[in-house]
Amino acid sequence: MPTKAARAASSSKELDAPPITRLIARTEPPQRRGPAAGPDPLAVGKRVRHRRKAAGLTLDTLGARVGVSASALSLIETGRREAKVSVLAGIADVLGCTLADLLDDAPPSRRAALELQLERAQQSPAFAALGVQPVRTGPRLPMDALESLVALHGQVRSLSIERDGTPEYARRANAGLRRRMLAADNHFPAIESLADDLLTGIDHDGGPLTWHNVRAIAARLGFTLQSAPDLPRSTRSIIDRTRRRVFLPSAEAATLRTVALSALGHVVLEHRPPGDYAEFLAQRVEVNYFAAAVLVPQRWAVPLLQEARRARDLEIADLRDRYLTSYEMAAHRFTNLATVHLDIPVHFMKINASGVIQKAYANDGVAFPSDATGAIEGQRVCRYWTARAVFDQPDWTEPYQQYTDTPSGTFWCTALAEHVDGDAHSVSVGTPYEHVRWFRGRDTPHRSASRCPDPACCTEPSAELAQRWRDAWPSSRVHSALLASLPAGEFAGIDRTEVTAFLERQP
Ligand SMILES: [Zn+2]
Repeated sequence: MPTKAARAASSSKELDAPPITRLIARTEPPQRRGPAAGPDPLAVGKRVRHRRKAAGLTLDTLGARVGVSASALSLIETGRREAKVSVLAGIADVLGCTLADLLDDAPPSRRAALELQLERAQQSPAFAALGVQPVRTGPRLPMDALESLVALHGQVRSLSIERDGTPEYARRANAGLRRRMLAADNHFPAIESLADDLLTGIDHDGGPLTWHNVRAIAARLGFTLQSAPDLPRSTRSIIDRTRRRVFLPSAEAATLRTVALSALGHVVLEHRPPGDYAEFLAQRVEVNYFAAAVLVPQRWAVPLLQEARRARDLEIADLRDRYLTSYEMAAHRFTNLATVHLDIPVHFMKINASGVIQKAYANDGVAFPSDATGAIEGQRVCRYWTARAVFDQPDWTEPYQQYTDTPSGTFWCTALAEHVDGDAHSVSVGTPYEHVRWFRGRDTPHRSASRCPDPACCTEPSAELAQRWRDAWPSSRVHSALLASLPAGEFAGIDRTEVTAFLERQP
């Protein structure tokens, strides 16, 4: 029988083996060079060209002497082909320099540095999207034009980052993400199987995940977990990839499990720094999915849910209690498994006490309120919906169920209201009428009718009341967050100064 360490090593190799493609993100990530990547082919090519010209050699001559065609050499010089080390060594030999000289990161001259920057900018997907003809960099491009073009590309880039930071961009990104979740019935088998492999690796028994289990999962991935009471407030966790440790806030164990698993999710899913806000959001959804898939494992949760369905006794709170998660995680996890494994279409909603949607998902045809960009978050749901009616119930310890007639059909929903840090919110899960027979609480006497989005339903007062109070002047409480741009940069909202200072403090 292999030792624990040997099993850990082989499993982490298995985990490293398949490159995890984008699971939820919409497109391939932009080309990005991480610290692990080799030398930049474009920079290497520049240096080859610089030295070839200085040596007075043509592409043909140098190519002939190192045994590659002039066109292949040209591809190497323009960074479109990565040169083999043997070819580079040959080139270095002919040009009278060392291999290290060609691989050196510093550009040989100011001009070469600018040409490099311009070519990189012109190769970016953002530039391609503009449909503008690229400029050929070469000796015929005057130095002042080169300086100006590089500066111009820099400005275009910062303007587009600013534009990406608008609330409208964020809402569009969110709407795009939800469309992809809908297309997959909110179920992502690749993440499920990664979670399952890790649980198998630690011989998990299928019960609630202990903190000890979480540490064992981290160890299999080659990471240690450390609680840090001085963790910067703008962060949820920090992964130190160099020394392979994850810094966590001091929090209660249940929260800590989720935070630690979400952080490890970035490692397991091989995330790179997000290229834009949409990718940032997609990664966040992916790591939250990963954490939920580990905490409420498909392998054990599905038989449990299938049994409950057979007994016509499905209940979100049971899932919560079985795996010691929050109600929100149990409800959300239910949406991951319900359609694919139980053949039940569902919707999920988290709203605040004013009825404003914080998170939502649906594949059951329920009509969420949405704005012109297709965004749902930030919209107010009908006051006759279960998600809002639950706030009026005297007892918040039990889920509240209600049938609601809407213009898109009759839905049965179960909701729980909670106070967290002084704010109230409700989490609800619902399904169309024809699927209610599988759920506990279908015998509820509560019924309601919603005509939203008809303004006469609940968003506009009656003509009589509007007339009576026409002179009243309410002052609106505008959240400054609505006006502010989203924080720009790779990691939205993170105070980088604080993070680096924190890491410097660590032994
Ligand atoms: Zn309404």
